[in-house]
Amino acid sequence: MERKKNYFAGPCVLPVEVLKEVEKNIVDYQGNGLSMIEASHRGGMFEKMYDECIALVRELYSVPEDYDVYFLGGGATLQFTMIPFNFLKKNTTADYAMTGVWANKATEDAIKLGRVNVIFDGKDSKYSTLPEPGSLRFSDDSSYVYICANETIGGLEWKEYPDTGNIPLICDMSSNYFSQPVPVEKFSMIYGGVQKNLGPAGATLIIMKKSMLDRRNENIPAYLDYGRHSKEKGLYNTPPVFSIWVVKLVLEWIKANGGVKGMYDRSLITSGMIYDVIDNSNNFYYSPVDARFRSRMNICFRIRNQELEAKFLEEAKNNGMLGLKGHRSVGGLRASLYNSLPTSDVEFLRDFMIKFEKENS
Ligand SMILES: *Cc1c(COP(=O)(O)O)cnc(C)c1O
Repeated sequence: MERKKNYFAGPCVLPVEVLKEVEKNIVDYQGNGLSMIEASHRGGMFEKMYDECIALVRELYSVPEDYDVYFLGGGATLQFTMIPFNFLKKNTTADYAMTGVWANKATEDAIKLGRVNVIFDGKDSKYSTLPEPGSLRFSDDSSYVYICANETIGGLEWKEYPDTGNIPLICDMSSNYFSQPVPVEKFSMIYGGVQKNLGPAGATLIIMKKSMLDRRNENIPAYLDYGRHSKEKGLYNTPPVFSIWVVKLVLEWIKANGGVKGMYDRSLITSGMIYDVIDNSNNFYYSPVDARFRSRMNICFRIRNQELEAKFLEEAKNNGMLGLKGHRSVGGLRASLYNSLPTSDVEFLRDFMIKFEKENS
């Protein structure tokens, strides 16, 4: 079977080795006589796998001891509500950087629950740039500062994180999770939906400093309460078992391929290949994003003669390439180069872009 070249933004490509491992074990998990997705989540083979998965998260990201690590359902989107529900206290303010579709959705949900101060709004630039971290000013009564590490739709990525001093920094890393080393100790909470870089949809990976729990509101309904999940190590209710299992296999794959530093080094090379084509195309292609903040994961680009974009997508499809259409809210083209995308598929895209330019300029 010839696999398609998958540049979708999410759910996204997974390592073929991992898919084969799932196939091998889907009926009979490691000779246990039942599938992982049929097993109880209390004890037994699930918990052994779960513990190994959490240990891999801690190892690959160098997560300090005083942080909780667990998975929740509900997608990254549920966190847009849970974060202010837990941490936006009465008579305090939450500071949000509005940098694109995902940070803006989080901001809009927080506004419904309490006082929000917008510390940056990329609106005037059509969300094509990010603030200089040092230029941000936080509220005196700030409960937390919120940023999105990588705007999946706009193609923007923070290269340096703001220093928030004693104010907790909370970050959505959905679309660049485990694609680079991260100074976890700078953040009070990191979270992300796993379907961009880590596995199939269904789980959200939470990494949270335990002392954050002392700052939370009281009387929170059980599922929305991080305190409850911390106490139960993420097993308060049935966790997204299948998703967690595959995440564990992907984390093993990341470890075997140089860890997050290996992912980072490769992402610079692969994203560089595509940005170079754009930059050397004499304006046949252009990137609408401030070059200082170009994402390594989601490369947004346009063809100067926009009528050619439909032709580009059609020819790409005929060459077995999927997912190159920009998000419906911004249009244009987008190539997502997540961890699991083979380098040869990036080279294929590079060569296709060069050929398309030659034939159409
Ligand atoms: C995809 C995405 C989300 C939403 O994730 P769901 O799991 O679909 O809720 C949130 N933030 C970012 C940065 C994303 O890329």
